[in-house]
Amino acid sequence: MTQANIPSDGTLADLLAHQRAAFVAAGAPPIEQRLANLNTLRKAILALRSQFEETINADFGNRSRFETAIMEIMPVTQGIDYLRKHLRRWMRPQSRHVAMQFRPARAKVLMQPLGVVGIVSPWNYPLALCLMPLATALAAGNRVMIKPSEYTPRTSALMSRMLAGIFPEDEVAIVTGGPDVGAAFSALPFDHLFFTGSTGVGKAIMRAASENLVPVTLELGGKSPVIVADDYSIPRVAKALVYGKLSNAGQTCVAPDYVFVPEDKVEAFATAYEAEARKAYPQGPADKGYASLISQRHHDRLVGLIEDARAKGARIVQIGSKPYEGLSTTLAPTIVVGATPDMKIMQEEIFGPVLPIVACRSVDDAITRINAGERPLALYVFSDRQDVVDKVLSSTTSGSAVVNDTVIQFAQDDMPFGGVGASGMGAYHGEEGFKTFSHAKGVLFQSRLSMVGMMRAPFGSLADRVLG
Ligand code: NAD
Repeated sequence: MTQANIPSDGTLADLLAHQRAAFVAAGAPPIEQRLANLNTLRKAILALRSQFEETINADFGNRSRFETAIMEIMPVTQGIDYLRKHLRRWMRPQSRHVAMQFRPARAKVLMQPLGVVGIVSPWNYPLALCLMPLATALAAGNRVMIKPSEYTPRTSALMSRMLAGIFPEDEVAIVTGGPDVGAAFSALPFDHLFFTGSTGVGKAIMRAASENLVPVTLELGGKSPVIVADDYSIPRVAKALVYGKLSNAGQTCVAPDYVFVPEDKVEAFATAYEAEARKAYPQGPADKGYASLISQRHHDRLVGLIEDARAKGARIVQIGSKPYEGLSTTLAPTIVVGATPDMKIMQEEIFGPVLPIVACRSVDDAITRINAGERPLALYVFSDRQDVVDKVLSSTTSGSAVVNDTVIQFAQDDMPFGGVGASGMGAYHGEEGFKTFSHAKGVLFQSRLSMVGMMRAPFGSLADRVLG
């Protein structure tokens, strides 16, 4: 286990105790300190922008610096701006209704930091999925311990150096290591545990947290479907899907996993998608702008899914074959035409640049099939007909949904981002994030003029007066 920012005796439990003692001693930080923290974090990220772009590229083997700027740095810095702009309003105590018999007491809700928050993050967007939860937890006044993914060690080291340079270890600390460290980390009695990663590991996290009754937010994965309605332009949907599926080579939690296309448009869609993919990545997989997969194991798993689909009768279309600088972890954009439920590719989250096309008879048919599976993290519907959109939105349950585009919901500052059912629980971004990392404490301020005494022994007539 490698570690950074851990006190001299080096145990995770000591680090937590250290942060908790500092939290108790200092109390909830005032708004000025929270705004200053956010500002410092934002500046530090921007100062290291090109280093982050380089390290993430090195961790992946190949990932465009523009992709890192657009998909990671921009949403985080904008998200921080949004937190800074609205924090004062969110922190303001809210007055609540007091029933007649308790007046003139006053009721308020005070938003209080939870204390020490643990964050476990994945490799696919190693900066954004670590620093956006961190910024939100800091905005809510917490102290934070982070366990990033072992697959992006250079990025973790850079984040570690950056955070150690701007925050004391009793406020923010990074612990690095693999699943063993993750397991020890998630067994700590945090005040909240925020996890982003796979559904399988999410279950282990929740089991471990339950031992200490630690509340969890689980940002998980799953198969996010796309429904293309009959009325929608095929070239337009192809363009949106190429962006959603091939950015970061499909290694995006809200990437469209598979697409329902009307039976008679499957061939036209496959042709349009192929054309759009060639336009976006003129060199195919050899394009500098086309990301490689995070490891050989991830690459080989996807090849296995493709071969299983081929063996079960699907037609496989691959766009180019020569990988970027001979990287064996690059996988060509792939289309699986004629995907059926018996294929493994339709049973597990793909998380790569492979798009199964599923022929469907109607939008109702697609809805029925989606509702037969786990609740997805995201759902995409393409239609210009309001009645079709309304029907899809009201008859399916997904963490988020986008009408006529893909993936961009992650970059919205003022929308809850999270899953439902097997794709997760809880949400963050904007005010929902602030609430996730805060305790809403109800406080009743009694008045000296209270009539409550009339409800206590020896009993007066208040009950008869209130109930009539
Ligand atoms: P993962 O679940 O394998 O790992 C995530 C983190 O958990 C890593 O830091 C890892 O070291 C740690 N971990 C592994 N085993 C652990 C254990 N037993 N106990 C505690 N911690 C453990 O996920 P990944 O491969 O890094 O990321 C890909 C998955 O994450 C996909 O399923 C994707 O859909 C999902 N994801 C979800 C979101 C979202 O916002 N909902 C975002 C990105 C990725």
